[in-house]
Amino acid sequence: MAGLDFLNGELEELKRQGKYRLPSVWESGSGAWMDIGGRRVLQMASNNYLGLTDHPRLKRAAVEATEKYGVGAGSVRTISGTLDIHEQLELELARFKDTEAALVFQSGFTTNQGVFGTLLQEGDVVISDELNHASIIDGIRLTKAARRIYKHKDMDSLEQALRESSGYRTRFVVTDGVFSMDGDIAPLPQIVELAERYDAVVCVDDAHASGVLGRFGKGSTDHFGLHGRVHIQIGTLSKAVGVVGGYAAGSQALKEYLIHKARPFLFSTSQTPAVAAACLEAIRVLQDSPELGERLHASASSFRTRLQADGFDTGVSETPIMPIVIGDSARTMRFSARLLELGVFAPGIVYPTVGEGKGRVRFIVTAMHSDEDLAFARDALLQAGREFGLV
Ligand code: PMP
Repeated sequence: MAGLDFLNGELEELKRQGKYRLPSVWESGSGAWMDIGGRRVLQMASNNYLGLTDHPRLKRAAVEATEKYGVGAGSVRTISGTLDIHEQLELELARFKDTEAALVFQSGFTTNQGVFGTLLQEGDVVISDELNHASIIDGIRLTKAARRIYKHKDMDSLEQALRESSGYRTRFVVTDGVFSMDGDIAPLPQIVELAERYDAVVCVDDAHASGVLGRFGKGSTDHFGLHGRVHIQIGTLSKAVGVVGGYAAGSQALKEYLIHKARPFLFSTSQTPAVAAACLEAIRVLQDSPELGERLHASASSFRTRLQADGFDTGVSETPIMPIVIGDSARTMRFSARLLELGVFAPGIVYPTVGEGKGRVRFIVTAMHSDEDLAFARDALLQAGREFGLV
């Protein structure tokens, strides 16, 4: 049928540029080793930082909730889709984040659509780090607020934007807590200080900091001791928490406002009972198991130190996310394919996920990786690195 023929042309163009890729299909759950095409490979790409996707307490909570409530919540939250476990999860999250309240959404992505798409209005300005996640960018695009982009983590650039936006009703400053492509941490204390000086609202998206930074994985606000000074803490329940979902934590007024106005909350069915119950159990497990985070950070820093000593460029990584920067998109994808032949899965990440010419193979160390696993990854990297002239 004619009409969509242009799609084939654009797909051919992606292939020509070496950017065509369909998702890998896995035959096992998200562990340190996973099955693909009947082969076991070392997984160095999952956001399952603490191994909670397979935690017995979470699985039991999901099964019990399914038995009790069924598999679906049956409605959006504002009609009959708010179950007591959704409310318990929100209470637990608010306690965990040391905020008055928290509101849960179906994913981190929809949380950002809900929060930014709702709070930012005509007459406001949002000032956003240039490397903020796509879901923040898209949330901002939903609104009529003015937008300014500041250079990545550059406080002079942020201050200039704040200085130049005095005529707006509300100024919002938005940053990722941990940047997902480089694994660096936002300078939240300086951002908060500037925001206070210019009377701006601070929002941090802790997708990759939740469960990873701060005491028990409470996030970047806790990591920097900034409780009470960050207006909105966004998080996902999909990465270290091991399940799926997102939340915004802040004041009770913020929660009630979002309940009345946030479109993903109002018009999309709530998390399934199994998901809500597993998330609730995960927040409890985080607080009972500080050793998971300790193991994560010890493994990540020793792996990074070794790669750097081997001569790899790990960029500005300071968390378990470690890019090996390669540059050209096609070469990046070939390097990743070679690693897979050697038994290690670490995907190539290329434009448009990162800037043109900034292709990288991204490694994520998790608490599930043993010392032997990480030695295996390093051996494969050294071999491929030599073949590609990287080391
Ligand atoms: N925000 C950031 C900073 C992220 O890295 C991600 C996940 N890639 C999201 C939001 C979206 O989270 P989720 O996967 O839960 O939709």
